[in-house]
Amino acid sequence: MSETISPRSQSGNGQPQATQGMDQAVVHILERITDGFIALDNQWRFIYINSHAEPLFLGPRRAEMIGKSIWDIFPHQVGGTVYQHYHTARTTGQAVHFEEWFGPDLCTEQHVYPSEDGLSIYMRDITKRKKAEEILRVNEERLRLLMEHIPASVAMFDRDLCYLYVSQLWLENFRLTRQEVIGKTHRELFPNDPAHRREAYERALQGEHCKNEEDTITYPDGTTDWIRWEAIPWRDARGEVGGIIVFHEIITRRMELERRKDEFISLASHELKTPVTTLKGFAQLLQRRLKKQGDTQSLDPLRRMETQLNKLTMMINDLLDISRIQAGKLTFREDRFDLAKLVTEVVENLQQTISTHQLLISGKTPALVYGDRDRIGQVLINVLTNAVKYSPHANQVLISVAQEESSVRVCIQDFGVGIHPDQQEQIFERFYQVTSGGKNTNLTGLGIGLYISKEIIQRHHGRMWVESVVGQGSSFYFTLPLAPANSPKKQEKPGRRG
Ligand code: ADP
Repeated sequence: MSETISPRSQSGNGQPQATQGMDQAVVHILERITDGFIALDNQWRFIYINSHAEPLFLGPRRAEMIGKSIWDIFPHQVGGTVYQHYHTARTTGQAVHFEEWFGPDLCTEQHVYPSEDGLSIYMRDITKRKKAEEILRVNEERLRLLMEHIPASVAMFDRDLCYLYVSQLWLENFRLTRQEVIGKTHRELFPNDPAHRREAYERALQGEHCKNEEDTITYPDGTTDWIRWEAIPWRDARGEVGGIIVFHEIITRRMELERRKDEFISLASHELKTPVTTLKGFAQLLQRRLKKQGDTQSLDPLRRMETQLNKLTMMINDLLDISRIQAGKLTFREDRFDLAKLVTEVVENLQQTISTHQLLISGKTPALVYGDRDRIGQVLINVLTNAVKYSPHANQVLISVAQEESSVRVCIQDFGVGIHPDQQEQIFERFYQVTSGGKNTNLTGLGIGLYISKEIIQRHHGRMWVESVVGQGSSFYFTLPLAPANSPKKQEKPGRRG
């Protein structure tokens, strides 16, 4: 146990005897309490200091202090706030409670109780708590500043989907004031918010990161906007979800531009189709005439012209498909056919136009599928021409058809440039083309073939994906469900091909 500065230890050396009233049992307890405790007599002299009080004086040892006036030991405190609090307690006879910083590293909380003999003071080091509070306050202030000035629409909710914070931009977007929002629940403010969004917020409250790239919102005044949003759970000190943060981005302008672009693509491809078809017709007519006349010299450039016109037709058809997909108007014929047979057919046809690569069917099992034979052929042509286009230093493309339990899987493998893992998902997006250092690495395509192909496969209830290693090559896969045994051989043709 640490030394006990008690009345007896001070007696006989000229120290005041004011603690004589404190018996040993009390002193024993005061030495064990976790708070600091001091007793001052009516002349402001220390008559008792417990062990926990000593460090709170930042220097002087309690043995040196006993019997001396507090203002002798701390003369700079005379007239200061501590002095005033002690004085108040003495002059009013009322207990006084206060908190005081002594330099940057010590803050004490003091409870001062006056009595006839002087003052009893309990003091506690609350530096850690005060510093934590300060950090919290500064963080809150930073968060408030961030929320007010961040050029993003952000709302923070608690577990009950009650608004805790909203950014200035959020208020501007929703044409509401902070007073109208904070403390209200999402349901109170937006009773007509659609179920899918409310359900997503509930899922976010379960810890899921939810988002929606294209959604609409109706404001309290009835106007609407296109938005993209993300709902992210935030966690409290115990690691439990304390609420969610929702980010909104208004994309109305972008959507409007997209709509105009789609309209333009649709219009332009329709407009291009007629002259190209006419040109093709004339080229074929000329070819027939020249053949008849035996003018073989002029035939070659005409054939090349036809090849280019065919490429142009394919591009226009792809653009028309894009417009149909956007408008939800891509339709399919329904037919039962052998996929392996189709693969062979497409490969043989394509091989006639490709001299740089050998298209090798490395494995094949007959597999009946149900769907649009031409559209699946279109997918095969897309992936095979890509395999050739993106493997300029290779001379082979391998194709395999394998039947699985309830589906058939086609694999087209090339030994070309490969695709970085970050881009393997994106290449299936509309107009996406791989870039390297900000530069487009492909100048011949439109970046729509894979988008259309994946859409076609998905509409046939199949899957399409790629596995690739940069510098080694890529394997494009797609699966299609096997046709049920009793599926009809042929059905009506709702779709029209571009
Ligand atoms: P594109 O007309 O540009 O070829 P696609 O939609 O067919 O459009 O392909 C999108 C992008 O994916 C291409 O621009 C290319 O960068 C990449 N890509 C497609 N197939 C391959 C492949 N076999 N190897 C490497 N990259 C490929």
